[in-house]
Amino acid sequence: MKLTVVYDNEAKKPGLIADWGFSCLIEAQDTQKILFDTGAIGSILLHNMKELKINPSDIGIVVISHSHGDHAGGLQDIMKANKDVELYLPQSFWGVISTKKITKIREPMEIYHGILTTGELGGMEQSLVVNTDKGLLVVTGCSHPGVGNILDAAARFGKVYGIIGGFHGFHNFDKLNPLSLICPCHCTQYKSAIKRLFQDRCLDCGAGLVLEL
Ligand SMILES: [Zn+2]
Ligand SMILES: [Zn+2]
Repeated sequence: MKLTVVYDNEAKKPGLIADWGFSCLIEAQDTQKILFDTGAIGSILLHNMKELKINPSDIGIVVISHSHGDHAGGLQDIMKANKDVELYLPQSFWGVISTKKITKIREPMEIYHGILTTGELGGMEQSLVVNTDKGLLVVTGCSHPGVGNILDAAARFGKVYGIIGGFHGFHNFDKLNPLSLICPCHCTQYKSAIKRLFQDRCLDCGAGLVLEL
């Protein structure tokens, strides 16, 4: 399984643009390429994708965590670039979207082979749970429902190995103890505290980061 951060508040590689928002590409065996969230600005998303040699027309599935503009802002541009994309939106999604295939998510489910969603938590946001050789990787947007609740929801699918994405104001750090990989991105308010506490298993996030598990 390979995960590439495409859009983040920070950039890890020259040529990539940093901007407030989040998006990452997930490539797993026997599945279509999945784009999780689309950042805030379509032109920045497409620029970073080009720099990372990701072709929008190769993406099979787009999953949106929640309606906020820093996660769904680039969606129209992706859909212009790839009209066949399948969309998985949280039930509460409020934007007007027309595409061939939209699934609104409320309950936990398997989206694709080895790719699961926690379902919509807190009435607003879903997180992805990706099966890897090392265990489950949780991929979050903003974590508005709370990282603890998201980890609990993911644990119903098996043993959680790691988490990547925005952690928002999360500070119940004990909840991260059992994890082997922690990658706080985007809106994580206590990023430096988390990096300090878990330096042995914390990864620096940023556009261009590639995780292979
Ligand atoms: Zn948000
Ligand atoms: Zn956000």
